[in-house]
Amino acid sequence: MGPSAQRKMPKLIPHNRLTFGDAECESVVRAVRSGQWAQGARVEELETQLCRISGVRHAVCVASGLGALRLAVGALGVRAGDRVLVPAYSCVALANAVLAWDASPIPVDVETESWTIDHLKCTRECDAWSPRAVIAVNTFGAPADVERIGSEDLPVIEDCAHAFGSGIRGKPFGARAQVGVLSFYATKLIGGGEGGAVLTNRSAVAESVRQARDYGDQLADGHRLNDKMNELEAALVLAQLDRLPEMIRKRAMLAERYVERLSNPKFGGIFRMPGRMSERIWYRFALEMLTVSAEKVVKDLLQFDVHAALPITDWRPTGSAAAPVSDRAYRNLVSLPLYPTLTVEEQDTVVDAFLGLCEGYTRA
Ligand SMILES: *Cc1c(COP(=O)(O)O)cnc(C)c1O
Repeated sequence: MGPSAQRKMPKLIPHNRLTFGDAECESVVRAVRSGQWAQGARVEELETQLCRISGVRHAVCVASGLGALRLAVGALGVRAGDRVLVPAYSCVALANAVLAWDASPIPVDVETESWTIDHLKCTRECDAWSPRAVIAVNTFGAPADVERIGSEDLPVIEDCAHAFGSGIRGKPFGARAQVGVLSFYATKLIGGGEGGAVLTNRSAVAESVRQARDYGDQLADGHRLNDKMNELEAALVLAQLDRLPEMIRKRAMLAERYVERLSNPKFGGIFRMPGRMSERIWYRFALEMLTVSAEKVVKDLLQFDVHAALPITDWRPTGSAAAPVSDRAYRNLVSLPLYPTLTVEEQDTVVDAFLGLCEGYTRA
């Protein structure tokens, strides 16, 4: 049999695949057997580890990334009628975290290289709206320009759901602003099923989130909505943290391989490569399509059993302020499969399918 006959049937390549092994399984089993399922010693240990990795003084684990954002926003004193700047191109969780306090999320357009909140446009919106806080996201792992956004009077929340475990210019992700926020949703950089955390050097912020995550033995308060993390989630996240450096390396290796294989001047007018800033995490590999919609590319790739995705869904109400770069991002960004367990054979299948489609788009 020749090599082609020996080839296995093509398998579907998913957009996400979780990374885990015996360590994760055993860690959860130990937590189950311990008989302590509600927030306990493992959550505390995870908080210690998150402080160690990011260098902040306080880490408070909660039930989700949205919960972490919501409680961080409240801890910074945002209340009804206040305004909070958020990237126009971002997860709807940001807007919901602000709306939960009867405050208004003000969408600010993003930059074209990093798809992170545009600091110049931020300054302009600050003059117009006098916001109480800003949420900046390290989108797809590209560092947001947090240093140029905030000030003593205008606290920044650095959303690190896509970037944690390294840093830029010697400053660890999660420690670059007044507050850092993490999500441990299953498919994030660090998975725990669900879960989140608030990181800060401000004792008052940490104390506020600690108080608010648990409604027990406190007066009635519509903002204490049970945001506690449980021991099973903490056990899973602790095991994931052990392999985080390796997962980050693997992602970077695969991203560089995408760049090598996709760099072809012939398709310069068809798609644009993601920003390759030297210090970033490769959480997503998002290409900007220039002549066809992302939706079409995702549909076309499915014919080759390759699952790509539109990474973020537009949450802005109709009639929102113009944000042309964000509009482009929602319409044109295609996220290719990128995760530590993606094999180079699978990656080659993705690349071949994508470049084949681009040939067709060139002729069209
Ligand atoms: C997923 C995500 C969130 C929300 O986290 P959940 O744990 O799903 O609530 C917030 N911000 C960003 C950037 C995310 O990717």
